[in-house]
Amino acid sequence: MAPAATAAATATPATPPAAATIPTIASPADAADALRGVDTLLFDQDGVLWRGDEDVPGAARALQSLAASSPPEGGGADPDRRRARRRIFFVTNNSTLSRRAYAAKLTKRLGGLAVEPGQVICSAWAAAELLRSRGFGRGGARAAERVLALGEAGLFDELDEAGIAHARGPVLGEGAASAPSEGGGAPSPQGSVPLASLDCPPSRVAAFSLDPSIGAVVVGWSSRQFTYAWIAYAAACLRELPACDTFVVTNRDAADALPTGRLLPGTGALVAAVEAAAGGGRVAVDAGKGGRWLHELLPRAIPDFDPRRAAMVGDRLDTDVAFAVEGGFRAAVLTLTGVATRAEAEAAAAGSRPTHVVASVADLAL
Ligand SMILES: [Mg+2]
Repeated sequence: MAPAATAAATATPATPPAAATIPTIASPADAADALRGVDTLLFDQDGVLWRGDEDVPGAARALQSLAASSPPEGGGADPDRRRARRRIFFVTNNSTLSRRAYAAKLTKRLGGLAVEPGQVICSAWAAAELLRSRGFGRGGARAAERVLALGEAGLFDELDEAGIAHARGPVLGEGAASAPSEGGGAPSPQGSVPLASLDCPPSRVAAFSLDPSIGAVVVGWSSRQFTYAWIAYAAACLRELPACDTFVVTNRDAADALPTGRLLPGTGALVAAVEAAAGGGRVAVDAGKGGRWLHELLPRAIPDFDPRRAAMVGDRLDTDVAFAVEGGFRAAVLTLTGVATRAEAEAAAAGSRPTHVVASVADLAL
C-alpha cells in the first residue's frame, strides 16, 4: 500500500480505488501469456541474472528457453518474422565493462548461450554514443577535443572504440608522477595521473592547471578512481573552461544491492558530488536507463525495433521499469531478486509500475 494513501485520500476526495494487484508470472503458461506478441526481450543484469558473483538459479535455463522460442502473433503479417526466434538483448547501467567484455561474461555465465557484443547495450557504450552525437570522437566536429573520464575499463574501452580522446584525471604537476598509481601502472598516454591515493589539499586545487582541450566530462561508476581531487578537477573544468560545455553520466542509480543486503553507493552518488561542486545549475545528461538518450539509441542498437513488441525485465522501478513504461514497451517485468520489492511495485506511480512481477527470472522459462 502506498505510504501516502491516507494523506492523498484527505486531499483528494475522489481518490479512485487502489489499482488491481500486479499479475505474477509463476508458470510457463503465465510466461507464455505475458510474452504473447513479444519478439524482443531486454534484460537487465545485476539483480536479475546475478547478484555480484552469485548467479540467480535457473536464469541461464530461462534465457536459453526464451532464445529458442518464437513469438506467437508477434510477427503480424510478415511470415519471416513469425518464424523468427525471439531476440535477446542485455541493457545495463553498469559502466565498468564494455560491450565486448559483457558479451564474453554473459556467454560464460549463461551456460552456452552465445552472446555477441551487438546484443549488449551497456551504459559505457551509451555514454560514448551520446558524446559522438555531440560531435566528439572520430570524424566529429569536436574530434580534436578531449573528454575527462571518470570510470573503469569499460568506459575507457568504449571511448577508445569511438575514437574519443580522453583524460582520466587531473595532471597535478610536480610530484604527481611519484604518486601511487593504480596497479602500479604508469601515467596514461594522455599524461593523466591515477588519483587513488593522492592527497589533495586546497593548495593543490588552487594550483590545478586545467587542460584547455577538455570539452566534456563523463562520470561512470568507479570505486578506485573517485577522489576529492577528481571532484575538484572536474568541477573546475566545467566552471572555468568555456569549451567544456558537455556533462554526461552513465547512469543515476543511487545504489545497488549487495548479496548481503547492504547497499553499495552507485554512480548517482558520484555524479551528485560533481554536480554540487560544479554548481551553476549544471546537471549531467543521463546516458543510461532512466534518461531519455537511451530511447533514441535503442532503434540504432536493435534492428527493426518496435517497443510494442518488446519486453524489459529488470529489478529496479526507477530505471528498468520506468525505462520500459516511458518507451511504450508491451511489458515491463519486475524481478524480485534485486533492489525493488513487490510492496514498492504495488505502491509505484504509473510511470514506474510494472506490468508483471516474477519472483525470479527463472520463472520466465517457457
Ligand atoms: Mg539491476
